[in-house]
Amino acid sequence: MKKLAELYRGKAKTVYTTDNPDLLILEFRNDTSAFDGLRIEQLERKGMVNNKFNYFIMTKLHDAGIPTQVEALLSDNEVIVKKLEMVPVECVVRNRAAGSLVKRLGIEEGKILNPPTFELFLKNDALHDPMVNDSHCKTFGWVTDEQLAKMKKLSYKINTVLSKLFDKAGFILVDYKLEFGLSNGEITLGDEFSPDGCRLWEKDTLKKMDKDRFRQGLGGVIEAYEEVAKRIGVQL
Ligand code: ADP
Ligand code: UDP
Repeated sequence: MKKLAELYRGKAKTVYTTDNPDLLILEFRNDTSAFDGLRIEQLERKGMVNNKFNYFIMTKLHDAGIPTQVEALLSDNEVIVKKLEMVPVECVVRNRAAGSLVKRLGIEEGKILNPPTFELFLKNDALHDPMVNDSHCKTFGWVTDEQLAKMKKLSYKINTVLSKLFDKAGFILVDYKLEFGLSNGEITLGDEFSPDGCRLWEKDTLKKMDKDRFRQGLGGVIEAYEEVAKRIGVQL
């Protein structure tokens, strides 16, 4: 496996081509961004922690029958993944009210959402990732009805698997964002699952253990990520 050219440099990861046209390398950097890239800081060890966290979670999801991008862990900061044709829409599942839902609908933070909600956001920083619906997806050709139905079904199946996994380790999975793409026409989970893209609260204390520590200037960001990683069984 040879790393070739830089294909794309995002806010937190760099994507490289390889000598296999079907595979890419995702490099997790220490860059941490919030507010659509308005605030960017370097947090030591974040690339390594998120890479290993993501690999651990994706492996659990693969074992539970979810099609994922992951092929192999390459190094502390890199993972080999299937090259996906990414769907430009992010899927958000919420078990408790937090973040933009609280602001948008005036729901009390922490309220249990039963059944959990499923929302779609267009991946577009310049437009601040606006909320969209299935009709927009169809009209603008972002994803077909059939593919969207699969994304929704997988998003909820992932909720069942991960809510249980985090619950056992003493955490509430409050909400999370997923990105899917197509691999040989099959909807496949891509990007990453790490505390950068989800909310995790400690069950006993409701302490925030995710990127809200960075967004809200609470400090101890990576220490919290490492604590979650340790308790769910990630080898750092
Ligand atoms: P952003 O683009 O939001 O700044 P990142 O820094 O995480 O985010 O960049 C990673 C980019 O790689 C994202 O645009 C994501 O959609 C894309 N990506 C993630 N996984 C894959 C994959 N398996 N195949 C192709 N592209 C991917
Ligand atoms: N999220 C993300 N990337 C985004 C937007 C949201 O990873 O571009 C995650 C976020 O970390 C949270 C969930 O998706 O776990 C729901 O985010 P929300 O809509 O509440 O927006 P926020 O308040 O984070 O801006």
